[in-house]
Amino acid sequence: MRERVDILVSNALIVTMNSERRVLDRGYVAIRDGVIVDIGVGEGTEKYTAEETISGKRAVVTPGLLCAHTHFYGLLLTGSPWFNRIESPSDFQQNLQRVWWAVDVLIGYEEAYASALMGSILFAKSGVTSFFDNISSPNTINTVLDYVERGVSEVGLRGFLSFEATQRRSDEEGFRGLAENERFIRKNNSDPSKLVKGAIYVHASFTVKDELLIKAKGLSDKYNALLAIHTEEGLVDVYHNIERYGLRPIERLYRLGFLGPRTHLVHAVHTSDEELELVKLTGSHVAHNPTSNMLNAVGVARIPDMLKTGINVGLGNDGYIFDHFEVMRSAFLLHKLWRRDPRVMTPLQVFEMATTNVAKMFHLDSIIGSIEPGKRADIVILKPRTPNTPVNYQTIYSHLVNTFSSRDVDTVIVDGELVLRDGKLVNVDEEKAVDYVHSAVERFWDRLLLEGSPQVNYVK
Ligand SMILES: [Zn+2]
Repeated sequence: MRERVDILVSNALIVTMNSERRVLDRGYVAIRDGVIVDIGVGEGTEKYTAEETISGKRAVVTPGLLCAHTHFYGLLLTGSPWFNRIESPSDFQQNLQRVWWAVDVLIGYEEAYASALMGSILFAKSGVTSFFDNISSPNTINTVLDYVERGVSEVGLRGFLSFEATQRRSDEEGFRGLAENERFIRKNNSDPSKLVKGAIYVHASFTVKDELLIKAKGLSDKYNALLAIHTEEGLVDVYHNIERYGLRPIERLYRLGFLGPRTHLVHAVHTSDEELELVKLTGSHVAHNPTSNMLNAVGVARIPDMLKTGINVGLGNDGYIFDHFEVMRSAFLLHKLWRRDPRVMTPLQVFEMATTNVAKMFHLDSIIGSIEPGKRADIVILKPRTPNTPVNYQTIYSHLVNTFSSRDVDTVIVDGELVLRDGKLVNVDEEKAVDYVHSAVERFWDRLLLEGSPQVNYVK
């Protein structure tokens, strides 16, 4: 008598990412009630009958990819006429003053929803099943996370949402940002039916005062919530903290008790040896965003050093390139070039930074990040079209990082539910959604050109 399951993925190459990093050349994954109930060698059809059998000849099954840091609203700007309106930024600070801070003051509920819908579609289509998003919309704070949630939930992903608390315009506004995070955490975090949870986010230590950092850490402790901050992305962050506080940013965060196992330091490009010691000592995590760092020309984070010292690093996209295969590829190549040493960064290290390491950052490593019995079923099935060499247990990590792309993503399962099947979204009419998002973006650009300020000077 064969056991009944909901989904049986059969006869595929399975990248488990379990602690032994076991790869099955020809195996199966059985899923019931949202949980991986069994994996094994062979087709699995002699043990199980399934509501849905996905046959995996030449297919590759991996854990859902995880994005450690994103901004859905970054998707509103690709190719925008705004870039012709402003003087091109020549450094990180001008990039904030002419692009992001000029834009985010005009983001309202519609832009929050439309960009979250688009971002979730792109994530699903590139095999990303979970992420940590951060929105900045200083003139639309209260309840804005509900609109982001709507976009994500329509597609069916798991994720963390947060509002970017900053005091760049006023002290009080920073606390309103934190209050929105707290409201959302209270609404979602203890509701087991919600795949989307809240988290605490502070923009960066050069736009907030000590009081806000302490309050943010207090909320993270109170709700057991993730806590993130942009750190040392540009040198302005380092100079500002040294000038005002006599400390480098991570040293200041350490003194304030901000660091810890729930803390994510995003970027960490300009870190000193002493600061890396503090990151390690406190069990804080680093979100590495190679494509964004290249785009903004801010510098190269010391990721190989971090990995060597045992700091946990996960890959993010920072609201740029929503194709996680491209992000992995960039992480793989960037550090080789920067160090002029082809030995740094192995394919496996990179794949860990897109799966198991981020699961740890999210404190979800007991339920996602690998394919193991008992874990929630967040998995991706790739059907690589024309692999140039055989795809097997020896070559798979190299293919994942060097040759596969989001176009090879065939099926995505989140919490046991199909989100993408045969390359098509299950819960959303893609064409309709894209038409809607494009019209929302056009309305937004009209407003931006009419009302936007080409230079805002909050930080001097
Ligand atoms: Zn960011």
